[in-house]
Amino acid sequence: MHLMIMGPPGAGKGTQAERIAKEFSLLHISTGDIFRNAIKEGTETGKKAKEYMDKGALVPDEIVIEVVRDRLSKPDCASGVLLDGFPRTLEQAEALDDVLNDLGMVFDAVINVDVNEEELLNRLTGRRVCRNCGTTYHIKFNPPKVRTICDHCGGELYQRSDDTIDTVKERLVVYKKQTFPMMEFYQRKGIFENFDGARDIDEVFQDIKAYLEKKKEK
Ligand code: ADP
Ligand code: AMP
Repeated sequence: MHLMIMGPPGAGKGTQAERIAKEFSLLHISTGDIFRNAIKEGTETGKKAKEYMDKGALVPDEIVIEVVRDRLSKPDCASGVLLDGFPRTLEQAEALDDVLNDLGMVFDAVINVDVNEEELLNRLTGRRVCRNCGTTYHIKFNPPKVRTICDHCGGELYQRSDDTIDTVKERLVVYKKQTFPMMEFYQRKGIFENFDGARDIDEVFQDIKAYLEKKKEK
């Protein structure tokens, strides 16, 4: 199965993606994670991406599209991927169609997680991420057992530099302007499914899981 997960920043895409990928044995590919790793490694792509990410802006389409083309071409993608955070513009969605055509890959479903803006602000400003394994926590809604330490690997938890209130607000503006209108592209293809993300993490997951199990049977 090849899937995409969409929704505004903070909707819970990464949180759900982790669970979906495990349940359905998919490779979780997050463009945000790819860029954060590139920044950590000090690559040219990382340096360019950082300029935009720090402002809450989108990384230019041509950079993101190349990164995704490259990643999807690797053999480990053949048995199933879950794309998280891509596409985010209509140009990216159209370019992805070309990439998929070239690779002979077909996407089965787009999972859209919907959450209101006030809740998104609360979620993003309280998010903490493991520096080592990338697991995501929330200081109130999904806290680790020890405040600054990852339950899974003992790594240090940190706050993303773009999770400050001003950058978060800018990211939400960018989402409304550039990403939200793009979803129509997938609605028209008939592979788009909406989920209410303003519920408990497990409740959202059970709903997505039930939908995907039905989809798999077809
Ligand atoms: P995204 O990948 O969409 O930006 P994340 O999965 O990183 O979002 O979630 C953003 C923050 O909200 C994290 O701190 C996460 O722990 C928390 N979170 C995710 N889903 C829920 C939920 N259903 N209820 C409460 N908090 C959540
Ligand atoms: P995320 O981890 O999905 O919240 O993404 C963090 C940041 O990475 C975004 O605010 C963008 O600056 C950049 N980014 C991630 N994915 C994309 C994309 N598909 N297009 C443009 N920029 C992206």
